[in-house]
Amino acid sequence: SSVFAHIVQAPEDPILGVTVAYNKDPSPVKLNLGVGAYRTEEGKPLVLNVVRQAEQLLVNDSSRVKEYLPIVGLADFNKLSAKLILGADSPAVQDNRVTTVQCLSGTGSLRVGAEFLARHYHERTIYIPVPTWGNHPKVFTLAGLSVKSYRYYDPTTRGLNFQGLLEDLQSAPSGAIVLLHACAHNPTGVDPTPQQWEQIRQLMRSKALLPLFDSAYQGFASGSLDADAQSVRMFVADGGECLVAQSYAKNMGLYGERVGALSIVCRAADVAGRVESQLKLVIRPMYSNPPIHGASIVATILKDRNMFHEWTLELKAMADRIISMRQQLFDALRARGTPGDWSHIIKQIGMFTFTGLNSEQVTFMRKEYHIYMTSDGRISMAGLSSRTVPHLTDAIHAAVT
Ligand code: PLP
Repeated sequence: SSVFAHIVQAPEDPILGVTVAYNKDPSPVKLNLGVGAYRTEEGKPLVLNVVRQAEQLLVNDSSRVKEYLPIVGLADFNKLSAKLILGADSPAVQDNRVTTVQCLSGTGSLRVGAEFLARHYHERTIYIPVPTWGNHPKVFTLAGLSVKSYRYYDPTTRGLNFQGLLEDLQSAPSGAIVLLHACAHNPTGVDPTPQQWEQIRQLMRSKALLPLFDSAYQGFASGSLDADAQSVRMFVADGGECLVAQSYAKNMGLYGERVGALSIVCRAADVAGRVESQLKLVIRPMYSNPPIHGASIVATILKDRNMFHEWTLELKAMADRIISMRQQLFDALRARGTPGDWSHIIKQIGMFTFTGLNSEQVTFMRKEYHIYMTSDGRISMAGLSSRTVPHLTDAIHAAVT
């Protein structure tokens, strides 16, 4: 008999498992609002025009070879990624006190950052918001950090529990790591205001708490790359240190290319150099070096003024379509007279709406309406279109009445 006979069936991933169930459903009206991937008004995946252009340039360039990249990835990509998140004229970048390494999308960047911290940082506790992206606690625990939480979302107001957040960070041990969503908090769509960010910054700096930013949605929240990076830039402008994990999955639609970056902002260039040398020791035995194709696409776009501009337009169009879906769903529920205050649908930011539907209502909508979402009631607004808003409205209406 098999030496693996004792192995028990593992559960599906709570987010990716939604798509597995969706794929098995034969209904023609089925709707997948589970995974956070952009869809067009026709419900199709989108490859940006500017990405196609960049790929064409790469294909036509016969000087390009398929050699290994360095352990830290493509140099141009790293420099341009740091400037994208920290600002084109960031003094920290100019002073060479930022080390940036290309990693496997946002998840890989978080993992490399966490492994580095577990090995070299004096405080192994990381505070994550409640709720947060379901993969966060697993990534950090497996990297060797000890995961604790801070209050974030208030279900009664469907907004930020700012007082709870401040209290929990205030009572965290000095030096603890704090995970912050740079913008478009997943799953709640609730972000601090700039004034609240400033208070968080002051509190964290006064307690020497170390910020680890997860930036998976830069440009996707507001439509502006700079506006969505403000939280990170506040923490860099004060001269202090932080880590930033960037993903190009959503904002360039490069999901499956697995392209992202980890930046560690240090106080001085010599520190950054030594940090980078240790990041290489983390990466080399994990996957040796990152893939070349996705990073080449990103670097091609970021370094060309026209292509960069075209990207910002396409990004804005995606963000605007999501914002218009919020309005359409809100209007449809109001027109339908669905009980409840649904204004959070238009107040929340980014790819998701945290509807407030409970797990029974989610199950009901799946069974009766073939609408798929995570059991916490999170729906991906990017998976919705004008055509499917009425069906979703019917389902929500039936679920809450
Ligand atoms: N962080 C958050 C908050 C996310 O929502 C996601 C993707 O859903 C990621 C990180 C990482 O995604 P990826 O590894 O595909 O870049």
